[in-house]
Amino acid sequence: MMIDGDRVLINANIATMSAMSVDGSVVDSPIIDSLVIDSPITEGLAMKSRVIEDGALVINEGRIVWLGKQVDLPSVSPSAQIESCDGKWLTPGLIDCHTHLVFAGNRADEFEQRAQGISYADIARQGGGIQSTVNKTREATEEQLYALAFSRATAMIKQGVSCVEIKSGYGLDIATELTMLRVARALERTLPLTIKTTFLGAHALPLEYAGRADEYIAMVCDEMLPQIAAEDLADAVDVFCESVGFSLAQTEKVFRAAKHLGLPVKLHAEQLSNVGGSELASRYRALSVDHIEFLNEAGVKAIAASGTVAVLLPGAYYCLHETQKPPVELLRQYKVPMAVATDFNPGSSPMASLPLMMNMASHLFGLTAQEALDGVTINAAKALGVDKQIGSLEVGKQADIVCWNIDHPRDLVYQFGLHPIEKMWKAGTTVML
Ligand SMILES: [Zn+2]
Repeated sequence: MMIDGDRVLINANIATMSAMSVDGSVVDSPIIDSLVIDSPITEGLAMKSRVIEDGALVINEGRIVWLGKQVDLPSVSPSAQIESCDGKWLTPGLIDCHTHLVFAGNRADEFEQRAQGISYADIARQGGGIQSTVNKTREATEEQLYALAFSRATAMIKQGVSCVEIKSGYGLDIATELTMLRVARALERTLPLTIKTTFLGAHALPLEYAGRADEYIAMVCDEMLPQIAAEDLADAVDVFCESVGFSLAQTEKVFRAAKHLGLPVKLHAEQLSNVGGSELASRYRALSVDHIEFLNEAGVKAIAASGTVAVLLPGAYYCLHETQKPPVELLRQYKVPMAVATDFNPGSSPMASLPLMMNMASHLFGLTAQEALDGVTINAAKALGVDKQIGSLEVGKQADIVCWNIDHPRDLVYQFGLHPIEKMWKAGTTVML
């Protein structure tokens, strides 16, 4: 038989990151068997089905149409371009499922102050903290915000990222929140990057609403959200639910408004304390709960039941000198999918490197290399509700692929800073790195 294809990748080892075996049956098995501790399935067919050694992959019109052992490669349209991967490794393009990438200014001055022992609370009292980023973002033009975000997104692409989530939340007024989301949408039109936008109007209480949090939330629900939905600017809605953020009742108001508009929800939850945000999020079948250092067993059970992804953000944990780690063992026990993201933002995680986050998730939180890789591919796709389209290398999915000059996929977690990307394709088209 002959299959239609415009590009054929040969001589490749393929880490599919798929939850499905090549024959379509569901597998629950590691790619990196040697690094999985106490796993009941460390060998056998299931594991091998997630890795294809000596493999080939056929792309047609941006989608994967065939992958498997090279010896089984069917004949492909003669016009197809054939590219050898010289025995290197293919993975899906990486997915950063939690960022605050659109903002103006930076907070390097605060970084220096904190290093000198000045507390975050004191810095905030002097007009620093999130409000300083809000001020700078409000002052910036749309073009300035776009240029800043463009260079950050480009830096991410060069590290193998082909999909990124971008939240609003540094405007905290209607005009600037809309502008931030428009900038995110515009980036997708110019860069080889899938962008999922999240409206985070309930990120912090702006100064002009001091003492009037309920009024602000009403404005978020009744004015901001309907405009954002009308312009189709957001793919999801998020809230910072915390003792120092918004309450459970305020969070639920935003969730109800989002649901009314047909938008899925996510939540910054259980970062500094356990206020029950994850349980609330599970009742609204949230795509993800993020941070979750203080999540307890009841919360883990709740998100397991709702199919919600646990997004771990080791960059913020590291920058804030936190000591409470997310409940990784419980998440494993209840089979909650774990994703890993940068939380890239100017305050608590000024780090735009998803590969560094894989390493940190392993070092700081004890994730296996397999879990870290799942966390930036298939589970990150689930956290954005796009796992039917991207996140793994499977027939029918978009051909977002990275070719790495590594000996084994675990090297991507183990080493940092070597930039081992050989090639990259976005929807089947070569990305200029
Ligand atoms: Zn965040």
